[in-house]
This record gives sequence, structure tokens and C-alpha cells, in this order.
Amino acid sequence: MHTDLVAALDIGGTKIAGALVDGHGRILLRAQRATPAQEDGDTVMRAVEDVIRELTGSPFWGRARAVGIGSAGPVDASAGTVSPVNVPGWRGYPLVERVRAATGGLPVELIGDGVAITAAEHWQGAARGHDNALCMVVSTGVGGGLVLGGRLHPGPTGNAGHIGHISVDLDGDPCPCGSRGCVERIASGPNIARRALEDGWRPGPEGDTSAAAVAAAARAGDPVAVASFERAAQALAAGIAATATLVEIDIAVIGGGVAGAGDLLFAPLRKALTDYATLSFVQRLTVAPALMGTDAGLVGAAAAALTRGTDATAAGV
Ligand SMILES: [Zn+2]
Repeated sequence: MHTDLVAALDIGGTKIAGALVDGHGRILLRAQRATPAQEDGDTVMRAVEDVIRELTGSPFWGRARAVGIGSAGPVDASAGTVSPVNVPGWRGYPLVERVRAATGGLPVELIGDGVAITAAEHWQGAARGHDNALCMVVSTGVGGGLVLGGRLHPGPTGNAGHIGHISVDLDGDPCPCGSRGCVERIASGPNIARRALEDGWRPGPEGDTSAAAVAAAARAGDPVAVASFERAAQALAAGIAATATLVEIDIAVIGGGVAGAGDLLFAPLRKALTDYATLSFVQRLTVAPALMGTDAGLVGAAAAALTRGTDATAAGV
């Protein structure tokens, strides 16, 4: 029997996705449940086990050799535990041990969701061929991960590259994380919408106050909506420039719903980067939209499982 597949789990605050993935990143089987995010920890785990059961029930399961998990964070890869902000029932929850038990003792690799997306973009997406990259998701929150020296850099606990919670506004608004003026506090979708509303933007008759509605208004020329995206772009640029100056990345890949605004975000972002990425060694930094779409979390978790215990460079991940 070939053991050439891995199981991947992508665990977020709204859904729990699972898949069996081959060594080329192809998804052979999928399963999904809604995350019962407000329930107790074991109820959330039962939803994970339901997803796993669909995978283990498949005729492909005998070929699976490891499990990769990309989870909403913070995670603690060294302890095998997760404490997702949006899943209060899980605090220091022993997810690795539970998943190992539910999969018949397969080895389990845990990384944060931002790191998982980075692994996917580096393996098959916009960061492919880049040895030093920052990949980001800008949506309800802002997350990210790093590739350094050709290898995924999850850090000791699996959270490295969490650009959403570095401060770019020293005396800025308090952030739910406890700090102030975080990138996420300015650039996430809900915060783009919040600022537009505070500055006088009003939604249409359908009452849609999402960042997508602000984007539509900006495209129609609403100056307050345009300004809110420009401010988000400025915060992202400052965070990206700081990262580039610190560890010499040459590309920043940005995905997530807010990145779906396209040039509305990317044009002011590229302009703001020239204000913040000023030293000679960061001036060639480029910004690119993510390519992996909604499967990035699963493909990245699979990448982590495939390269588990090996030199990631050898596998090209
Ligand atoms: Zn924060």
C-alpha cells in the first residue's frame, strides 16, 4: 500500500475543513462542518472528529501517512495546543493529542493559519520561487507568515509572521490583543468599515456595512470610503516595510477578502510602500495578490505534514 497522502485540517472560527491531499497538492477528498464556535471545547472537538471520520471512512485513508493542521491562533505547536481568539471554549486545548487519537495515531503537525497560508503560497502560489517572503491574509483579521532562507519559518510555537498585531500607530486605538495601533486594528475589513462609518460614510438602502460595501462606495467615488482603504493600505505598508527591513523579504503576498478589493487596496499600498520601505535593500520589495484562494489553508496544512521531520527545502516547500 502506498503511503503518499496526508490529511489536512483547516480550523477557523466559522468552519472546519478537512481533506486528503497528495504530494502534488491535489485534493482527493473534502469534508467540512460549521464551527460551533460558542460551544464548549469538547463540542467543538466533536465537529473536528466528524470531519476526520469522513476522511478515515474513505478508501484513500490507508494511504495517509500524517496529518497537518492549520488552526486559527494563537497556537502552541511546541505544546500541541490551540487557543483561537474566536473559539472561547478552546484555551490551551490539546488539539494535537485529540487529532492523533482520532486518526489512529498518525503523526500530527500543527501550525497557525497564517503560517499554513504562507506554506501554500510558497509551494504553489504567488511566493513560489521566492526564498524570503511574507504572506498575509487581510479579512476579518490580519494574519501572516514568513518564508526565510527558502524555508517556512513557523517559529517555536507556530505563530511567527503574525503581522496583524505589530503596532504601526504608537498611540493608536486599543486593540483586542491588548496592544495599541495594530495593523489589524486599522486594516482588517471590520475596521475599514468602522472607520468609514465614523468619518461619515453611510451604507446604501440595504444597510450593508461590510468592507465590501465600503469598497463598492469607493469605486463609485465616495471620498470617505476611498480614504478608509488608503488608511488600511498605509498601515499594511508600514507593517510590510518593517518586516522587510528586519528580515529582508523581497515579496509580500496578500490574500483574504479585503485583498479582493484589488487596485483599491494595492495601488495605495504600493504608493505607501515607497514612503516606508526606503533603505536600499528593501526598495525592490514587491507586493502581489495571493493565488491560492480558499484552499490555501488546506494545501498549506498538507505541506506542513508532507515536510514533517524533513528538510523543507528538499520538498520545495
Ligand atoms: Zn493587536
